[in-house]
Amino acid sequence: MENSENTTPAKPFYDGLLSVIVPCKNEVEAIPVFYGEFKKVMQGMGSPKYELIFVEDGSTDGTLDLLRRMSKEDPSVRFISFSRNFGKEAAMYAGLKSARGDYVTIMDVDLQDPPSLLPDMFSAIISEGYDSVASRRCTRCGEPPMRTHAARLFYKILNSLSDLKFKEGARDYRLMTRRVLDAILGLEEYNRFIKGMYEWVGFKTKWIDYENVPRSAGETKWSNFGLLVYSLNALTSFSTVPLVMAALVGIALCALSGLGIIFVIIRQLLEPGSSQWGWPSMVCIMLFLSGMQLFCLGVLGHYMSKIYLETKRRPAYIVRETSE
Ligand code: UDP
Ligand code: MG
Repeated sequence: MENSENTTPAKPFYDGLLSVIVPCKNEVEAIPVFYGEFKKVMQGMGSPKYELIFVEDGSTDGTLDLLRRMSKEDPSVRFISFSRNFGKEAAMYAGLKSARGDYVTIMDVDLQDPPSLLPDMFSAIISEGYDSVASRRCTRCGEPPMRTHAARLFYKILNSLSDLKFKEGARDYRLMTRRVLDAILGLEEYNRFIKGMYEWVGFKTKWIDYENVPRSAGETKWSNFGLLVYSLNALTSFSTVPLVMAALVGIALCALSGLGIIFVIIRQLLEPGSSQWGWPSMVCIMLFLSGMQLFCLGVLGHYMSKIYLETKRRPAYIVRETSE
């Protein structure tokens, strides 16, 4: 696969093929900007071999038409188009499965995962012997402050509940060798959370920090509610501690009620008739306890719904059209 704009005579930065997976939902404005920037970076790296795999995730704008055109004009561009919107996790999975490269990376199309980090990432793999190079935003400027606080809180809770350690600001963007990719493809679960999978498979990983970059064009696809659901899924995908906590809360409340019963008996013995006092506090206690029960049921239900979805063995996505 030779790139037509091969203008830089320098020796290619790496041998072999790089697969770049780019999930896209309604990104007709951002794709051309990404394509131009990515090719510039590749030229700067001595025009090594690459394939760009755009995964079109149920777009309603002209994204698919644009990708059809691009794949005709440039042999290093491929696309996979879904039958509807399946979400970014499914799009990344489809891309990873179809990647043919010796090296693989996933990038957002809005340039928030800067392609300019690629030379440093390759150096770490080729010269320093790492298996994968992960990226992490060290700042979140340009993002609503509430989202930043919520994200911080999420990582704190996730890290305290899971055996795996998640870095705050970690991106889906990372460069990995075929060995790491094959390990990730070995995880065939339906409820996918790729950041957790990266941590779960392990391997020697280097972290690169970078400043947050605002979106190049178009708009974010995430609503606050969408992010909340995503966070809950992430939490329960890589930790069963909430289930243990529900049981512990139950035990603690039983112990507390035991103490309460002893208190009521002693008071009744010391002051006959006093056990009729305090029905308003009784109502509060009952409300609290029913609340806790519903909460624990909710936690249980959430895990159960995940088992339910896994047992159906439905595919994570359905492909409607591909470039070849
Ligand atoms: N995306 C996708 N499917 C979705 C939502 C998003 O493929 O259902 C893609 C989107 O086109 C972009 C990337 O995922 O390339 C990240 O999305 P976005 O920039 O909206 O997220 P943010 O950076 O705001 O977290
Ligand atoms: Mg973005």
